Amino acid sequence: MTSAPDTVPLPSGERIPLLGQGTWRIGDHPRRRADEIAALRRGLDLGMTVVDTAEMYGSGASEELVGEAIAGRRDDVFLVSKVLPGNADRSGTIAACEDSLRRLGTDRLDLYLLHWRGRIPLEETLEAFTELAESGKIRHWGVSNFDASDMTDLVSIPGGDGVAVNQVLYNLTRRGVEYDLMPWCHRRNIPLMAYSPIEQGRLPRTGALREVAQAHDATPAQVMLAWVLRQGVMAIPKAGRVGHVEENRAALDLELTSEDLAALDGAFPPPTGPVPLDIL
Ligand code: NAP
Repeated sequence: MTSAPDTVPLPSGERIPLLGQGTWRIGDHPRRRADEIAALRRGLDLGMTVVDTAEMYGSGASEELVGEAIAGRRDDVFLVSKVLPGNADRSGTIAACEDSLRRLGTDRLDLYLLHWRGRIPLEETLEAFTELAESGKIRHWGVSNFDASDMTDLVSIPGGDGVAVNQVLYNLTRRGVEYDLMPWCHRRNIPLMAYSPIEQGRLPRTGALREVAQAHDATPAQVMLAWVLRQGVMAIPKAGRVGHVEENRAALDLELTSEDLAALDGAFPPPTGPVPLDIL
C-alpha cells in the first residue's frame, strides 16, 4: 500500500500541506460566487490550506474572491499567487505583487511564483523577489512551468538556488516530467506542485482508472489525486462546490496498492524518453 504523507517540506524546512486548492476560473461568474467561497472555506476547514491563485485569473477576480474567502482566517492559509511574465521586470514584479496583496486583502504572500518564463531576464525577477522578501511582502518565491533546462538556468544565477517550488502540469495522463524534471527537482529537494491534477475534470470514463476507483469505492478523480499525492508531489485541485472539495480531501486517505499502480501504469505509461513540458 502507498499512502500519501500529509505535508511536504519546502527547502527551508517549513512543512506545508500536500493537498491544497486551485482557483483558476473561480470568481468568473457572479452566480457561482457563494458556492465557490463556501467551497474554499470548507477546504480550509479540512486542512487544504494551500490556496493557489494568480494575477492572471479573471484579471484579478480570482484573487478578490480568495480575499473574501480567507477574510478573518489569513493565518490559517498558505497563500500562493503568481506574477505574469510580462510584468516580471524588477519594478513590475513589485507593483504586481502589491496589486495582488490589495486584491487579496493581506499584507503578505506565503509563496510568489513567476507564472512562466518570458523574455525578461530571470535576474531581474529574482532581484524583485529578493526585495519583496526583505520587505516582508513575500515569504518564499518559486517558479511555474519551468522545465529541467529552465531550472538549470535558474539555479546558475546568483540566488537562484533559493527557489522554493516549481508548479507544473502533472497528472496520470501527463507524465512527461517523470523522465527528467521530477528526478532533477528531487535531487535538489525542490518540491513539485501539480496543477490540473485531475486534468480539469476530463477523466476517462472506462478502463483501468474506473476499475481502480470501483475497487476502492472511490471516484476516478480521487484516484487521480491519490496517485499524484503518494509521491510527495503537492496537488492543487480546483473545486467550485463543497461536495467536490470533500471528495478531494478524502483522496488523501486513499491507499493505492502495487496492483493498482501497475494497472494504472499499463493504461497511462510513464515516459521512456524526454518529453517537452506540457502546459495548459
Ligand atoms: P483541475 O483542478 O484538474 O480540475 C478542475 C475541474 O475539475 C473543475 O471543473 C472542477 O469542477 C472539477 N472537479 C474538482 N473536483 C472534482 C471531483 N472530485 N470530481 C469531479 N470533478 C471535479 O484543473 P485546474 O483548475 O486547471 O488546475 C488546478 C489549479 O492549478 C488551478 O485552479 C490553478 O490554481 C492552478 N493552475 C496553474 C497553472 C499554471 O500555469 N501555473 C495552469 C493551470 C492551473 P467544479 O469547479 O465544478 O467543482
